[in-house]
Amino acid sequence: MSSNILIVEDEPAIAELLAVNLRHAGHCPILAASAEDALRLIRDVLPDVMLIDWMLPGMSGVALARELRSGARTRDIPLILLTARSEEADTITGLDAGADDYITKPFSPKELLARIRAVLRRRAPQLNDEPVRAGGLAVDPGTRRVTYTADGVERELRLGPTEFKLLHFMMTHPERVHSRAALLDKVWGDHVFIEERTVDVHIKRLREALAPAHCAELVETVRGAGYRFTQRAPAH
Ligand code: CA
Repeated sequence: MSSNILIVEDEPAIAELLAVNLRHAGHCPILAASAEDALRLIRDVLPDVMLIDWMLPGMSGVALARELRSGARTRDIPLILLTARSEEADTITGLDAGADDYITKPFSPKELLARIRAVLRRRAPQLNDEPVRAGGLAVDPGTRRVTYTADGVERELRLGPTEFKLLHFMMTHPERVHSRAALLDKVWGDHVFIEERTVDVHIKRLREALAPAHCAELVETVRGAGYRFTQRAPAH
């Protein structure tokens, strides 16, 4: 699946090279020339992954990683540090700061893409194309089909594109409570311009779409907190 990848790199030639390679692999790169720029961009839209250069003017890449990890909204963004240093002590500093991985310059585009895939698999299962099964439902991001089995026959459910993304995100993060703001960030990619009530509207539509499979109850409302996908059979 295509991912929004925020590149924080002050050297234009390297930033452009990264962007070209990521675009070629089907991703959407976004460029920031400093940590401060990156923080500004993140205020509006959360990226799926960040590539952060270690040596930046102003705030360093390590300081940026630390700051992202300390914020409730940004703590789960997968981070890969780009570094010209390969000494063990530096690597440990980077990983301690919260980076998921690091790549030493110069690196091959192939290696970079493999690292991005690995980090996404670990930290952002909703960006994976593999089918997910939970609570009697099967969601396949490759074909965008939602199916269930009734009386030994596989049947398909009709979901709108937003309901599909919402269900896929919740099924890849089951049993966890997601606030409306977090769902806007993760499913809509925007928590600034869309009202939280929008989430309620789409949750309602999602439940209606799941009703033929008797799975509407799997999407639970957690009062005062948000929504949760549960795999437990409802107690009735
Ligand atoms: Ca640099």
